[in-house]
Amino acid sequence: MVTAVLPAGLRDWREAPRVRVLNDRAVNVSGRYVLCWLQQALRARDNPVIDASILLGSALGLPVLVYHGVREDYPYASDRLHHFILAASRDLGTGCTKRGLACVHHVDRAGHREKGLVHRLGAEAAAILVEDQPTFVARWQSERVAARAASPVYAVEAACLVPPAVLGDDIRGRSGFLRRHEPERSNWVETEEVVPEQPAYAGTLAFTPDTLDTCDLDALVTSLEIDHTVPVSAMHPAGRGAAEDRLRRLVTEVLPGYASARNDATRADGASGLSPYLHFGVLGPREVMAAVAAADAGSRHKAKFADELLGWREWFHYQAQDLAAPERYDRVAGWAVDTLADHAADGRPELETLSAMLHGETRDETWNACQKQFLVDGWMHNNLRMYWGKRIIAMTPSPEVAWSTACYLNDRLSLDGRDPSTYGNIAATFAGSPSDRERPIYGRVSTRSDGSTRRRDGGDEWLAAAASRAVPRVSVPAEVPVDPYLTGEPTV
Ligand SMILES: Cc1cc2nc3c(=O)[nH]c(=O)nc-3n(C[C@H](O)[C@H](O)[C@H](O)COP(=O)(O)OP(=O)(O)OC[C@H]3O[C@@H](n4cnc5c(N)ncnc54)[C@H](O)[C@@H]3O)c2cc1C
Repeated sequence: MVTAVLPAGLRDWREAPRVRVLNDRAVNVSGRYVLCWLQQALRARDNPVIDASILLGSALGLPVLVYHGVREDYPYASDRLHHFILAASRDLGTGCTKRGLACVHHVDRAGHREKGLVHRLGAEAAAILVEDQPTFVARWQSERVAARAASPVYAVEAACLVPPAVLGDDIRGRSGFLRRHEPERSNWVETEEVVPEQPAYAGTLAFTPDTLDTCDLDALVTSLEIDHTVPVSAMHPAGRGAAEDRLRRLVTEVLPGYASARNDATRADGASGLSPYLHFGVLGPREVMAAVAAADAGSRHKAKFADELLGWREWFHYQAQDLAAPERYDRVAGWAVDTLADHAADGRPELETLSAMLHGETRDETWNACQKQFLVDGWMHNNLRMYWGKRIIAMTPSPEVAWSTACYLNDRLSLDGRDPSTYGNIAATFAGSPSDRERPIYGRVSTRSDGSTRRRDGGDEWLAAAASRAVPRVSVPAEVPVDPYLTGEPTV
């Protein structure tokens, strides 16, 4: 347990509750910069990790060096994910330059391998700031860096409007969460831009950075040793400009009818489609809520959107902070695990192969329509996701394999996967009410019908068309990996 206090520069910052001290090292007095190592919060403005780095740099009289790197061997590295990440990283660099900050990139690949680059950059740093991300490789990598670094490492929460730390650590259910979260929101909607006091870092570096703004990103992605069978998503163009377009679309087209249309999967303009940009931090929740507040839309629609973005998304972030491994089956409610285990030996006539599931070619038309959104679009409409998740329990040989399969399909294909919302929502598909009636395979875990889509005008036709979309043929592993995020080689 690290008990060190925050250093000058961060101590009095109004966003200080976002900061956690990860080790107890003293500032490296010969450091040449403050290192701001980003993994997922890929935006240049209103980014608490960057802002905290600038404040600490000013207190120490040092410039900030922002670093973002991508390797080929993180779980599920594919054209889809790499393309989205690299375009966001490129725009992060442009935005940092405009803010007067140095930002350097590294794309690890044959002929351009850099071993332990974060450690090498960290060795030249007075202090290191990292993101406080509770899922996927980010948390694990930050902790490894903190354990090895000779300088202090601070983790900064950048994903939520309300820093989870101000809510306390004793909330057990969503209604209790909302009771504390809702009154806090107004305290976090305003922010002041932190201005660097030092000129941009222009000194030597431990490596030769990539120049993403002038390189051909498509050619770069094609040259990498990653999964080329999962293609780029046409539905979710990459980069900050695309994210801003999507936010404008939310304000002008989606929000005015949001409360009524959001659950209708057959409508293209019912939901915001923001989740990929939020997951990679290309947009932050504060700027999204500011756009919503200023929009010409009814309060019913604004309240519904706030309930999704803040009431649900931040609840799952809050939960994940407290879990040692939010991506594991053991987070599922004990009674649900027990009732599913009681039915583990039940016959499973609807078992499907992994290939049929990956490609949306099972015997269930509705499920195929859902899965093809993940496969083709790299995203799925919210109203389809619960049906999709619950049906996997019947399509796989055991509840544990169902969990791993749901995580695998979501994480490999969806741009918003690998997120606290991924595992929190998948856990919700393994829930219901302990008083539900007992069914084969599911026990007292509730099932879900496809009626909310099928019963709409044109619902049958929409599902049939969605299920018959042409799909890319993706590689099929021999079996679904279990916890790929928690094992393997360090990637920093
Ligand atoms: C089985 C299952 C798996 C899911 N996997 C993911 C995932 O990997 N990543 C992810 O971000 N969301 C996930 N969700 C939640 C939700 O379905 C998506 O956030 C939403 O569909 C994204 O589309 P949108 O941006 O158009 O959302 P909108 O309906 O426009 O909502 C606006 C924003 O609110 C947030 N939000 C909405 N619903 C939820 C919710 N149920 N939980 C948490 N946040 C929410 C998202 O950030 C979303 O972008 C999952 C839900 C289920 C049932």
